[in-house]
Amino acid sequence: MKPFDIVIVGGGGAGLYAAMEAMKTNPALNIAVLSKVYPNRSHTSAAQGGANAALGNKAKDDTVEMHIFDTIKGSDYLADQDAVDVLCSEAPKIIRELENMGTPWSRMEDNTIAQRPFGGAGRPRCCYCSDKTGHTILQTLYEQCLKKGVIFFNEYFALNLSVSGSRSKGLIAMNMKSGKVEAFPAKTVILATGGYAKMYWNRSSNAAGNTGDGQAIAYRAGIPMKDMEFVQFHPTGLRKSGLLVTEGARGEGGYLVNKDGERFMARYAKEKMELGPRDLVSRSIETEILQGRGFDSPAGTYVHLDLTHLGADLIKSRLPQIREMAMNFEGVDPIEEPIPVKPTAHYSMGGIDTDNQTRTVMEGVYAAGECACVSVHGANRLGGNSLLDILVFGRIAGRTAAEEAGKFTPGRITEAELAEQFDEIRGGMQASGRYERYGELREELGHTLALNVGIFRESSLLQKGIADLAELKDRFKKVRISDSSDVFNTNLMQVLELKNMLDLAETVAAGAYARQESRGSHTRIDFPVRDDVNWHKHTLATLVKGNVTLGEKPVTMGRYELQERTY
Ligand SMILES: Cc1cc2nc3c(=O)[nH]c(=O)nc-3n(C[C@H](O)[C@H](O)[C@H](O)COP(=O)(O)OP(=O)(O)OC[C@H]3O[C@@H](n4cnc5c(N)ncnc54)[C@H](O)[C@@H]3O)c2cc1C
Repeated sequence: MKPFDIVIVGGGGAGLYAAMEAMKTNPALNIAVLSKVYPNRSHTSAAQGGANAALGNKAKDDTVEMHIFDTIKGSDYLADQDAVDVLCSEAPKIIRELENMGTPWSRMEDNTIAQRPFGGAGRPRCCYCSDKTGHTILQTLYEQCLKKGVIFFNEYFALNLSVSGSRSKGLIAMNMKSGKVEAFPAKTVILATGGYAKMYWNRSSNAAGNTGDGQAIAYRAGIPMKDMEFVQFHPTGLRKSGLLVTEGARGEGGYLVNKDGERFMARYAKEKMELGPRDLVSRSIETEILQGRGFDSPAGTYVHLDLTHLGADLIKSRLPQIREMAMNFEGVDPIEEPIPVKPTAHYSMGGIDTDNQTRTVMEGVYAAGECACVSVHGANRLGGNSLLDILVFGRIAGRTAAEEAGKFTPGRITEAELAEQFDEIRGGMQASGRYERYGELREELGHTLALNVGIFRESSLLQKGIADLAELKDRFKKVRISDSSDVFNTNLMQVLELKNMLDLAETVAAGAYARQESRGSHTRIDFPVRDDVNWHKHTLATLVKGNVTLGEKPVTMGRYELQERTY
């Protein structure tokens, strides 16, 4: 295949914005986007609530500076302040840019873009398209990419970077339609493969494909992962499935209620109540459940999200998808009855370590979106800041790669490399004797993570989690791929995803065990306070001789000093 100037892995919001911006920066470039699902089925399309920008439409006194402060405070002071400056300053521009491309933002009566309150934000600044914001953004971007001539390789599964010394020669991927392993020689590669919260299995709001493939690809190539211990639990997942009920439901005025009929958030965040930041609200729900104030059911203990007082008109116009999901997956109509909810693993704050221009330590390799850690979210992301992150840093990745592609020459990916990959991924088809089943390993992975590396963590739990992961990795060597066909071998792909999750889960558990403090989403029962003296720093997990090795990196400070975080 002719070498590409840029190969982008991922057709979500980050990948598509990068492709569009790269084309705009230099229309002569040869740019490919690879995606294991059709781009408009990427997880971005599931984003309901909205994207933050200090437009000042709803609250006239809102400012970019307030958005910056809320984000840094929300991050429990672990975000890099120069990166947060970029995120929030670019926000109003990028929302208007999307509007000009055709994103149908919901409007206020004066016809300006509507904004709703979101957790941890001092002003209502979340811009939305009803409760289908991600879907509309993704459609807009996909349209623009097709118009500009981006080449799509849909249903291609990225396997690994091809590396020579300190540089990447391009990407190796499997064509899912034929099972063939193909070379994508490229001057630059942008990883935009989304998050890894699906490793928590059925206690996750994520799409099935959010298995951290891009992070695992980078990790195996020697690129460090930053702050992997910070996994966000969203407060309101549906009880049975973990599917998400957007924070917009509380933004519109929903209450959280325990079995005694109390709005219990008064105990934990007197001022912000249900609109406290996610880490705090998730811990509060979990505490209510652990202390016996939840509702019991065969499908687990839960609390109520009550929207009944909002009225049928508001629910039908602003939260139609939530109503549909509650009816389909819990059998309740939120107009009439409260929705059963409990926290669900939702977002990965950690990811591939990049600088503010999305560069990684490997020449010619960039990362953007949820798979990257710039870091703008630190220890806890605010709702509405991730769609913003993928747009702002997706754009920067596209521009940077387009400007820098000329510096690199693509290497040659050899037939021998392809053959080696082919043999490796198909090894499981030959498993004989006593073998392991994919489904069992997958479920056990989710179970041990939710139990031992979940919302509340503690030394002995984490040790158990680490031991379980080592055992699972060992058993994985004997996993059997039961389907031997070449065409759309979904079992093979699931096994490849499981391998990626097992690699990354070790970095999450190692970071969580090492970090002896509580900060943002990382709560250690045995170290309940934030320890700025010893732990105000990022962790870096690197793969050295097959083992996780932890290093560290300082946090970039700016105008805001460390403060106690109260709501
Ligand atoms: C249910 C839900 C609701 C959310 N709501 C909001 C919200 O209201 N506001 C907000 O700010 N954030 C929200 N988020 C978070 C936000 O939507 C995501 O962080 C963001 O959309 C991620 O975008 P992305 O482009 O980085 O990745 P994704 O959209 O996840 O796309 C990843 C892409 O990578 C591709 N890919 C992955 N692995 C491979 C591989 N091996 N080979 C080839 N391709 C691969 C996939 O095919 C896909 O195209 C929500 C998340 C969820 C799960």
